[in-house]
Amino acid sequence: MTEILKAFVNVIIKMPQGFGVTLKYLFRKPVTVQYPKQKIPMTPRYRGRHYLERYDDGTERCVCCGLCAAACPADAIYMEPEETANGERKAKVYEINLLRCIFCGFCEEACPEEAVFLGQDYEFSADNRNSFIWTKDQMLVKHPRKENPLKRIIRRVRRVYGVPTAK
Ligand code: SF4
Ligand code: SF4
Repeated sequence: MTEILKAFVNVIIKMPQGFGVTLKYLFRKPVTVQYPKQKIPMTPRYRGRHYLERYDDGTERCVCCGLCAAACPADAIYMEPEETANGERKAKVYEINLLRCIFCGFCEEACPEEAVFLGQDYEFSADNRNSFIWTKDQMLVKHPRKENPLKRIIRRVRRVYGVPTAK
């Protein structure tokens, strides 16, 4: 008799409760992202792969000063300098080993020319180690980025006065 009562309670109460939950979620916006067809934008502070910036006239910003490599805690940056025809210094070789990189952004903070920066890209998986050594040609942007001038000012202020820390 108890078993019959349990089955009756299940059919009359528990099953409609279950269907109710299903119905509740049926018309809600799905939380599952259909990656890679659907890509969600990363947060503004996300640090992905590196880029090398140009000046507005198209010349390379990087002067191969080595400050980014000195600031890098993972020893992931390698560079070799060269002199241009008009006596300016630039990088002949500039490489970042993304297998070593911890995407801390210290290189971006250290760069006096605002040449190297970490973008929003995260799709750079590969099936061999050599593909993770990113070269200058891979990182150099085609056109200088159009950045919000306010962001640039904030970055410069942070560089001069430091980043406030919680006490
Ligand atoms: S990216 Fe910036 S810090 Fe690094 S070598 Fe070039 S100019 Fe110097
Ligand atoms: S993000 Fe950090 S670990 Fe990666 S290259 Fe820059 S300084 Fe080095």
